[in-house]
Amino acid sequence: MQRNLAVLRKKIGSSLFCLPVKANAYGHGLVEVARFAQKMRVDCLGVSCLREGIALREANIQIPILVFGAIHEEQIAGMIEYELQCSISSRYKAELVAKMCASLQKKCRIHLEIDTGIQRTGVRPTTALGLFEFVSQCPYFHLVGIYSHLATADLPEDLYAEKQIALFSALKGQIKGECLWHLANSGGTLFYPHSHFDMVRPGLISYGYFPNGETGSEIAPCLSLKSRVSYFKVVEAGRGISYGHHYRTSRQTRIVTVPIGYGDGYRRAFFNRAPVLIRGRRYAVAGAICMDQFMVDVGEDEVYVGDEVTLIGKQGNEEVSLWELAHLADTIPYEILCGFNERLPRISV
Ligand SMILES: *Cc1c(COP(=O)(O)O)cnc(C)c1O
Repeated sequence: MQRNLAVLRKKIGSSLFCLPVKANAYGHGLVEVARFAQKMRVDCLGVSCLREGIALREANIQIPILVFGAIHEEQIAGMIEYELQCSISSRYKAELVAKMCASLQKKCRIHLEIDTGIQRTGVRPTTALGLFEFVSQCPYFHLVGIYSHLATADLPEDLYAEKQIALFSALKGQIKGECLWHLANSGGTLFYPHSHFDMVRPGLISYGYFPNGETGSEIAPCLSLKSRVSYFKVVEAGRGISYGHHYRTSRQTRIVTVPIGYGDGYRRAFFNRAPVLIRGRRYAVAGAICMDQFMVDVGEDEVYVGDEVTLIGKQGNEEVSLWELAHLADTIPYEILCGFNERLPRISV
């Protein structure tokens, strides 16, 4: 990850770096990644909600934390108490936050969110100036930033992304807010240098994955998923393997068990298909993925209990990529990563 952050830093020049660590740092481990980011002098962390922000503060993370998501009224006091930066995307919420600040006699650091075309959260461009003026004159607010989010920047040269960047740039010219203007996600950071403005928020690419599936540059994944063979048996020809018997042995063969399953986030959609690496060789999952384990047919090969099984990453000259798995499950790398839960120990190497 250190290398990825360094490569991206170089790319963004003097812009600040906000590292998204939402959803357990894309499955990598919220506190572990945040501690590392703090050490690497990342300028700011991005989370989605109050709970994630509190978890970071309770782990003694002291750098700025921006909460991207819209907050509920009953969460406002927590945002102020834990010194989390709020995203303000309506006049109504701005007033509620101001009221809570007044009653607590505390200031709140805020970012104004403008929707330039994702239709998710954020004030409309036409009302942005009015909201900016309101928050600027409010004595309880410190306006740290104004931001928006790109909807289609995963691929280079996308016309809609260009439209959003142009709109954001025009708003910056009109509003003249002296604060951090920020727009770029991973796609923006990589493919649209003119979207960098004062700060970038690249998530996926910081963890080593291109949003368009590209590989082979200086950026590399920092996660691998490994297990170990927990059981071994010889099975005759014609036997069904695992729930539903979706796989049948075609000859007498060796079947090994791997103790990880959909209860850890190793998706059921991988059944009968996903590649795994044992002793530098590629095999496929045999039959259904169970909650806690799955089986592999290793044929005549010598495999022993205790052998390392690589589910994502490199082993010898072979590699299983996250993109490959995402395609098998008909999804995107983000979703596979976020699915890895607390039963899997995160080990930093
Ligand atoms: C998740 C998120 C990001 C990061 O997106 P990536 O595609 O992972 O780079 C940036 N900004 C906001 C507001 C987000 O919600």
